Amino acid sequence: MGRHESFAAFVARTLAAPPAELSPEAVRPLVPLGEAFRRYGQESLARRQHLVRQLRQGLHQLRVQSRPVLPVAPPRLRLLHPPGGARSTGGPSAPGAVSSRPASSPYASVSPPAAAPARSSAPLLAATPLAEVPGIGPRTASQLAALGLLLVGDLIAHYPRDYLDYANLVRIAALVPGQTATVVATVRRCHAFSSSRNPNLAILELQLQDSTGRLRVSRFFAGRRFSSPAWLKVQQRQFPPGTTVAVSGLVKESPHGPTFADPLIEVLESAGAPVRSPMIGRLVPVYGLTEGLRAETLRRAVQAVLPHLERWSDPVPEGLRQELGLLTRQNALRGIHQPADQADLQASRRRLVFDEFLLLQLGLAQRRQQHRQRAAPALEPPAGGSDLVGQLRSILPFPFTGAQDRVLAEIRHDLVRPQPMARLLQGDVGSGKTVVALAALLCAIEAGCQGALMAPTEVLAEQHFAKLAHWLPQLHVNVGLLTGSTPARRRRELLQDLINGQLQILVGTHALLEDPVQFARLGLVVVDEQHRFGVRQRNRLLAKGLQPHLLTMTATPIPRTLALSVHGDLDVSQIDELPPGRTPIRTHLLRASDRQQAWDLVREQVDLGQRAYVVLPLVEESEKLDLRSAVEVHRHLADEVFSDFTVGLLHGRLSSEAKQAAIGAFARGESQVLVSTTVVEVGVDVPEASVMVIEHAERFGLAQLHQLRGRVGRGAAASHCLLLHGGNNAEARQRLEVLVRSTDGFEIAEMDLRLRGPGQVLGTRQSGLPDLALASLSDDGDLLEQARAVAQDLVASDPALERHPGLRQALRDQRQRQVEAARLN
Ligand code: ADP
Ligand code: MG
Repeated sequence: MGRHESFAAFVARTLAAPPAELSPEAVRPLVPLGEAFRRYGQESLARRQHLVRQLRQGLHQLRVQSRPVLPVAPPRLRLLHPPGGARSTGGPSAPGAVSSRPASSPYASVSPPAAAPARSSAPLLAATPLAEVPGIGPRTASQLAALGLLLVGDLIAHYPRDYLDYANLVRIAALVPGQTATVVATVRRCHAFSSSRNPNLAILELQLQDSTGRLRVSRFFAGRRFSSPAWLKVQQRQFPPGTTVAVSGLVKESPHGPTFADPLIEVLESAGAPVRSPMIGRLVPVYGLTEGLRAETLRRAVQAVLPHLERWSDPVPEGLRQELGLLTRQNALRGIHQPADQADLQASRRRLVFDEFLLLQLGLAQRRQQHRQRAAPALEPPAGGSDLVGQLRSILPFPFTGAQDRVLAEIRHDLVRPQPMARLLQGDVGSGKTVVALAALLCAIEAGCQGALMAPTEVLAEQHFAKLAHWLPQLHVNVGLLTGSTPARRRRELLQDLINGQLQILVGTHALLEDPVQFARLGLVVVDEQHRFGVRQRNRLLAKGLQPHLLTMTATPIPRTLALSVHGDLDVSQIDELPPGRTPIRTHLLRASDRQQAWDLVREQVDLGQRAYVVLPLVEESEKLDLRSAVEVHRHLADEVFSDFTVGLLHGRLSSEAKQAAIGAFARGESQVLVSTTVVEVGVDVPEASVMVIEHAERFGLAQLHQLRGRVGRGAAASHCLLLHGGNNAEARQRLEVLVRSTDGFEIAEMDLRLRGPGQVLGTRQSGLPDLALASLSDDGDLLEQARAVAQDLVASDPALERHPGLRQALRDQRQRQVEAARLN
């Protein structure tokens, strides 16, 4: 302002054109003042003073309005004996033991444990029966037994399935309905009365406030004794106005704004005094229960046991534990049941997840090592012998892809060694695993051994056989087929030739696992689509006679975490390249009601000389699921939609010959449309098929759909996959979108793992899924890798874990549990 402009002129000018960063509404009340300041020089002193005062008030208001709202910090609440902290002593100061409230008070969330824990004379071990734990009475023990919790170790391993987050400390204004929370507030008013409508119902109503707002909290007490005037008076006296209380509960919406539904309330001696309740302000564990067992009972039983853990030892060596930055197992077990805060909970969970993975990987590493120690025939080609693999290459109409060459080299490297190979070959549908397997089998034949090729279904076994029977006679190699429907006479011949060594390669289903099947000199077993077999079947095969080399193959890409968990004892090879000349499949989502568009595309493609699959999830009408059956759809398509084409039908209830006939007709082009159940999922190979229509796509897993659509796009023609879906379920549609976006089997399998869980990805129930209580194969990949590396090191330096007795014992216990679980099934 200074020399050039008077203050009054400055005010008048500025208010006429206020700075742009101020909102016009905020400035508006000041605008008339600007007018007044124009005449400031002519005004009386009193008038001038008045104007300046008004201006100051206006500016102050403007400043308050434009000040960013500072969030009020959450309240503080001191917790006594934080369960996560270093508790030096167990004994009487353990949490829950300090409540000074009379046991009859409804606010005593936990009454004191029945006995002081940690009597030094009788240490509690994992194997101690719960009935012998001080603080767990016979009644509680028998209730726990109903949950299958008999020993201390059982109870400790009964992890909470969730937590009530009472550690969520908030101000009243920030309460969010639907969440759990804790507020620390002052009592404004308290009123205890019995309901006018129900004399046996007492109501306690508290009006609370903090610096951000007010809150009404009610609690209800049903029962005659609560309605006595004396009792009501006692209640009311507990909460005189001005008292500080801590309140934890679930926030609900009410006509008066957010309120608490029957919360826990504790009076604090002063604003900074600690809360005594073991629940208010904490993460409260929520356990899976059975009828007749109260949450409180279970929590108390756990609390009776927890202090004893401190004297347990950690099976993971201290140096290693520190290197990995993990809590001790004792602290982690305590923290999962009684976390001090979210950080403590996460750290505890991390340690326990690590342990789950470590045991799993130790078991696998040991199995792998034991397997390696066995002797297997070294499949070395004899000098000057026939180069069968070279001959195969010369008769194939295509050269191997780079990936096929690499993988075959990896396999040969294993086969020439005198230890059995155990290798998993992963490769997307159509990546050409079969010829690689064939080349590997020829390595065995060259070395004077026999080979077996196992497929999960007869259809697939027959197809493999047809392919092999096309190439192998040119190489003067004998091949036979053995399935459940091989006639008895043929079967006897095959078995005879097998045992006298005449038959060199046997193709079959799991009939090959049956006892009378005896090889003269089995060198290599190939298992195709191994995810269809259980791990147990795989192991059964390995146990058959002479230790053969094993190659398992899968087109269901398995996410790495799952592969490491289920096949962690195998080496993995991967064909990550499709043969050239394939055009990518285009995938579209269609509402079931737009089915006609699908039929139009089918007609268009068939007119171009291509063929189409129509895939359905079920064989016969099931009223319950309301799925259209293959039989019915076939009739509809054959008689009405495509009456000018030939429409074939393939489903699991057909005889083996009928299936073969249906596939044969389709392959030869005698039928142009093939209606099928998921039998086509594996292996069926018809290059002219360029369209696949999948009905009720939402009923399939993503990996399975990916596998299904791999049946088209095997030739050079542009191919289409049409996913028909019910259309109402947005989530299902979103899931299917993944297939439209991605053709990467691994990405799809990862999604499936995340969305549907490992059991669905592996496809079979007894596929050897590890039992993981806390660990997630989709979220804990880093811990799994860590545990795997640790397990391999440990087993390499201490194969029998003699120097790690804690781990050895834990592994033994786990095996014992698995054996028992298997027996129960
Ligand atoms: P999958 O890995 O799904 O079992 P297949 O072994 O059935 O795949 O092979 C799919 C198709 O690709 C077959 O018709 C096969 O003959 C053909 N194929 C395999 N390898 C090659 C290659 N290197 N070049 C061209 N075509 C190939
Ligand atoms: Mg295959």
